[in-house]
Amino acid sequence: MTILPIRIWGDPVLHTRAHEVTEITDEIRTLVANMIETMKEAPGVGLAAPQVGEGLRIFVWNYEGGHQWDRRLPVEERPGPSHGVVINPDLELFDLPDREVDPATEMEGCLSLPGLQYPVLRYQKAVLTGTDVEGQPIRIEAVGWLARIFQHEYDHLNGTLYVQRLTGQWEERARAAMAEADFQGGHWVPGEEEEEPRPRIVRRLRDRARQLKRR
Ligand code: ZN
Repeated sequence: MTILPIRIWGDPVLHTRAHEVTEITDEIRTLVANMIETMKEAPGVGLAAPQVGEGLRIFVWNYEGGHQWDRRLPVEERPGPSHGVVINPDLELFDLPDREVDPATEMEGCLSLPGLQYPVLRYQKAVLTGTDVEGQPIRIEAVGWLARIFQHEYDHLNGTLYVQRLTGQWEERARAAMAEADFQGGHWVPGEEEEEPRPRIVRRLRDRARQLKRR
């Protein structure tokens, strides 16, 4: 298996609607296996095909549970260990909270926007349908952080990144940080030594995020 380069904000593939998968070929199966490997190495809890340069409607996830967000859930609803792949997904959403976003429990990051984290208001429940890598239909009712992962990855398939869903002060802060980072596409490879000047940018953004937190 191969660790794939992860595309960075600015690469057109991240900002374009991905295409349906018309046939699950050996190439698709290899892509999925490599995406899982890449996600684990990154590490990330989800990865969408456009993030590895493939404009196809596929994403993978790997969430073992335990995010603090899930502590808000009734015990019987807390998700257990969960990982998988979905091809040509649909996502049905329920229960968007009617309140301000909570930076203590709703921070998101994205492997295509290294060094940044901002809180996003998301639906509490999501029903994911589509097929697995064998072409068999799947249906998963997700709550809590898993539902959030599904929303984040599904957005990727429509060319939307989480920073485009920020509101208020968070939108402003992200705009300033992204102007400073000056992301212009390119890629990074999980597990490889990072090339200049990206680490410097990431360090600077992290320092900046810490300063903002202290305020
Ligand atoms: Zn992402």
